[in-house]
Amino acid sequence: MNDTQHKVRTRIAPSPTGFLHLGTARTALYSWAYARHFGGEFVLRVEDTDVARSTQDAVDQILASMKWLGLDYDEGPVYQMQRLARYHEVADQMIAAGTAYRCYCSPDELDAMREAQRARGEKTHYDRRWRPAPGKTLPPAPTDVKPVVRFANPVGGAVTWDDLVKGSITISNEEIDDLIILRPDGVPTYNFAVVVDDWDMAITHVFRGDEHINNTPWQINIFRALNVALPQFGHCPIILGDDGLKLSKRRGAVSVTAYEDGGYLPEAMLNYLARLGWSHGDDELFSREQMVAWFDGTHLAKSPAQWDPAKLAWVNAQYLKQADDARLGVLVASQLARRGLDVVADTRLNALCALFKDRCSTTVELADWLQMYFAPAQPTEIDRAEHVTDAVRPALVALRDRLAHCEWDKVGIAAAIKATLTEQGLKMPQLAIPLRVLVFGRTQTPSIDAALALFDRDTVLSRL
Ligand code: GLU
Repeated sequence: MNDTQHKVRTRIAPSPTGFLHLGTARTALYSWAYARHFGGEFVLRVEDTDVARSTQDAVDQILASMKWLGLDYDEGPVYQMQRLARYHEVADQMIAAGTAYRCYCSPDELDAMREAQRARGEKTHYDRRWRPAPGKTLPPAPTDVKPVVRFANPVGGAVTWDDLVKGSITISNEEIDDLIILRPDGVPTYNFAVVVDDWDMAITHVFRGDEHINNTPWQINIFRALNVALPQFGHCPIILGDDGLKLSKRRGAVSVTAYEDGGYLPEAMLNYLARLGWSHGDDELFSREQMVAWFDGTHLAKSPAQWDPAKLAWVNAQYLKQADDARLGVLVASQLARRGLDVVADTRLNALCALFKDRCSTTVELADWLQMYFAPAQPTEIDRAEHVTDAVRPALVALRDRLAHCEWDKVGIAAAIKATLTEQGLKMPQLAIPLRVLVFGRTQTPSIDAALALFDRDTVLSRL
């Protein structure tokens, strides 16, 4: 692997027609980890040849998600639309070599061809009418049709490759026809651009979703026609939603951005995504460094994994517990900013995060807790009626008086509560629950003295 010619080079090649999809993020992670594991290089390529659907906004989102996940690349972003001259050059070479040719069929002619095939009960395919062959006379090229360039796919035989994920795969050349590699406007199709790029970028290993398995024979045939080394392919199964169908927008969030906004930590996302299709023994929680150390392309699952929001929440909760409070403070402040609360400069943020993070799965939940410190409490009428009863009112008044004068820290507050309990002959929950309802708008909080100490005294007195 030290030979530079064989240095591991992987890539992720998203199409900027939308956000970074979770499935693409997972293959990006596998490609990245594989390159890092073998001391190789990882490339980011933007496959923007679907000009009508590609947007700069999507490119920006994809780059931001890669950055957020910490999947750093050694080269790129390389944009396919900036490489048109190169695709034309390779197509010209292939035409000269007889492995590609111009086809002047109009859309109407192609429709008629397929119609006739259907009428004969055949599978529709391009009938190679413009493909040169010894002894074959081609029609004169019409002047009013802009030709496409087609790849002269081998006739007969089959393509076999040893897939890193799925094992040996064979697809017959009967299944695939002479693929268009350049459209009339000179823009390459996916299967052609991907080969030229993987070749030029010296990609050694391609991890991608298994929806591309049927494209791979064309790509392998084009690599062979160009007489260049093939990368190894690994096709990862799709991710299923919890209903067993392909994870899609209709079945919940599928973009990395949605999870960033939803209060997940990038290291938790990476950990969860990694396990969704790969395993290292029974390990459920592991760091990015451990993954790099362990990820050698083995133990990739052949069958689809199911997206499990509850497990992701659990993984995230484990990382939240460990997370540095100052870091969480920044994250939770940005969550609260979306709710119109500017808390960035508040000196209590770190202590608040420390107190509440253990009971949260996301920074959104953490923000729900912290919000009570920065916005009025909103106890429900039901909680008020049930817990803030006439029976407990004198105790609340007595407590309020003590809190008005006690030392304003955890110890002082605990002493004020204890004295009130003794004086009023009450047990802790009898006083603590109404107190929580009034101050927090909730019946449960972490230890009440610690939670109260992080308010300023006036806020607590006014809520009481
Ligand atoms: N642009 C393709 C996609 O987003 C890339 C597939 C590949 O990695 O070859 O699915």
